[in-house]
Amino acid sequence: MADERTPLKRLIGGAAGKLSKARGLETVGDLLEFWPRRYLEHTSDLSSLHVGMYVVVVADVKTATTRRMHKRRGEMLSVTITDGRNEVDLAFFSSYGHRDVLLPGVTAVFAGEVGIYRGRWQLAHPAYQVLEGGLGSQAADRGPIPVYLQVKGMQNWAVAECVRLVLEHLDEVPEPLPASVRVRHGLPGRLEALKGIHVPRDLREAERARLRFRYEEAFVFQVLLAQRRARQAAARTRGRVPREGGLLAAFDARLPFELTAGQRAVGETLAQELSRDVPMNRLLQGEVGSGKTVIALRAMLAAVDAGGQAALLAPTEVLAAQHHRSVTTMLGDLARGGMLDGSEIGTRVALLTGSQSAAARRHNLLDAASGDAGIVIGTHALIQEHVQFQDLALVVVDEQHRFGVEERDALRGKASQPPHVLVMTATPIPRTVTMTVFGDMETSTLTELPRGRSPIVTHVVPTDRPGWVQRTWERIAEEVRGGRQAYVVCPRIGDDGAARRSSSSPDDEELGVPPAEDGEVAPREMASVYAVDAALRENPALDGLTIAVLHGRMAAEDKDSVMAAFTRGEVDVLVSTTVIEVGVDVANATVMVVMDADRFGLSQLHQLRGRVGRGRHPGLCLLLTASDTEAARERLDAVAATTDGFELARLDLELRGTGDVLSGRQSGGGRSGRGMGRGSFRFLSLVRDEETILQARDAATELVTGDPELAQHPDLGAAVRDWVDEEQAAFLEKG
Ligand code: ADP
Ligand code: MG
Repeated sequence: MADERTPLKRLIGGAAGKLSKARGLETVGDLLEFWPRRYLEHTSDLSSLHVGMYVVVVADVKTATTRRMHKRRGEMLSVTITDGRNEVDLAFFSSYGHRDVLLPGVTAVFAGEVGIYRGRWQLAHPAYQVLEGGLGSQAADRGPIPVYLQVKGMQNWAVAECVRLVLEHLDEVPEPLPASVRVRHGLPGRLEALKGIHVPRDLREAERARLRFRYEEAFVFQVLLAQRRARQAAARTRGRVPREGGLLAAFDARLPFELTAGQRAVGETLAQELSRDVPMNRLLQGEVGSGKTVIALRAMLAAVDAGGQAALLAPTEVLAAQHHRSVTTMLGDLARGGMLDGSEIGTRVALLTGSQSAAARRHNLLDAASGDAGIVIGTHALIQEHVQFQDLALVVVDEQHRFGVEERDALRGKASQPPHVLVMTATPIPRTVTMTVFGDMETSTLTELPRGRSPIVTHVVPTDRPGWVQRTWERIAEEVRGGRQAYVVCPRIGDDGAARRSSSSPDDEELGVPPAEDGEVAPREMASVYAVDAALRENPALDGLTIAVLHGRMAAEDKDSVMAAFTRGEVDVLVSTTVIEVGVDVANATVMVVMDADRFGLSQLHQLRGRVGRGRHPGLCLLLTASDTEAARERLDAVAATTDGFELARLDLELRGTGDVLSGRQSGGGRSGRGMGRGSFRFLSLVRDEETILQARDAATELVTGDPELAQHPDLGAAVRDWVDEEQAAFLEKG
């Protein structure tokens, strides 16, 4: 007998080598989680055919002959198959690869469309799957045939036979689902489900097995999250109670606007959680411009007023620098603590980026370590490097749906006591995703935009209407003449020999741009920053306008100076990649043109257009597209039709899966080809299975409350540890 850890070698001999080499499958458990992609079912026999009918049938090869063709090179293969009563001819116009397989006596499943040739039924180039030889009529009694990912050097039936053999040797497998949960949902046990999925008697049985594994994925992951929540609730840190009359009060007194009701409510929640001795772990969602940064800054000031320090992590250096600029501006003399012109109660705001001079860096590192800097701003390199804090009380992670659980853990390790953590995201995240990817955090959402914000109008501009495109550039010129500024966003940089690259080998910040639409003949060349910049300089409509470029491959100081010039209004038109996607805030910018808009995700477009209409002036977003596929048009029309980011995020999720919504957090599959990484559930869909996730979450929370360390559920504990191991492996690989 065998268990899940038994090496395949012991059970199936030579085939084990191939399974290991081709798919990394080493143990019985690995092979059992090599899930079938689909099933072949023989639904018809050969007795009642008609032209155009699609048949799937188990039949024997009766005869097979090859002959040279007159007009073409190579040889043709003619095969006759029989189901015992009736016959059909098969025609292969190249015998290559088929001649040695379809020998008389071989049994296979054949699938194809029925035609007629010289008065006989014919399938031209049918798909087929050879069954193990000699089964004859027995094959017809079998259930659906599982189809596996191809394993080099093995026929599908041989893989299926290995699985079948392994299942026969298995008398028990770990059962992560508690019996009570199984009973409540009418789910089969794990061994039964493994048999149901690999050797189903019929498709209903396979479906029942899938439901069980779907629930298992949801449940095991929710148990993991429930444990994390429980541990966090049990963790202790220092409550941070700000002193009266400190920075926060001074800052509030000079705020040029009133906080919205939502901002006040979230602010109170944060203040309360900061003052408790349980570390805060909160996700703040809110549309671009909903005023998250102000909220975060107030929380940071409270932390400083309580004698601690706060760190603000941005996803890029451009954003870190911009945050530094805007925070120091907002704080004024409050940010010049210890200086002659500084406020008496002032602190300092340190900036740490990879590209600053050694001297500046040393100075800032010192300010962080001594505590002279109450606020430290940088990219997430802050948590990877050996930056010392005097007393880190609060960490704010900006725009970081890109940060996962592991990053948050690493970050907590920076302080002697775990810091309070606030993660902000402007990408609306569908509830199912929040419950999984951010399932260990509490969430707050800012729903209203500050008053006086102007709406953004979005139009789709097909580039096969030349008049419209020129009108787009004229529109930009008009805005600039009215004193405003414009963005032109391109999917590529295009500054070197790699300029012809297609979307399948993306440049750095082009990550997140989806591959070409299916069915597109040849990938169109996408607009690049440099090509568009050159074209706009030639365009008479933009005569006299100042145009600059910005992208991630520029030196940091060049990026900073371009951004600063744009912020000061010295640049009229900024041609850039998606580096401006998050957080960049220039209220005077009112128009955005997105080139090849069909290459971006819906959430990403929504995010991008949030850069305009941030001031008193209405925003305009023009989505240029050369794609004439209906699907592309529909997606862009959806962006034009709604400003509801959650709706677009949900659509994105439906159209392109989780990876895109969480941009950059694509799964990549586990080590054993199991593909169980977060965001890549094998059976669970974050689009379809909200109900399952909710049920699993309730059941998991209940179970963990009663048995926090899973002492009574060892198999479940092992399954949870498997997840964690895979996550950590993926995290380490990512660097
Ligand atoms: P987010 O970070 O959510 O994108 P910000 O905090 O950067 O939003 O706010 C966007 C702009 O709106 C900033 O210029 C900010 O000063 C301003 N703002 C924030 N809250 C308010 C408010 N309650 N009333 C008016 N303006 C506000
Ligand atoms: Mg912001």
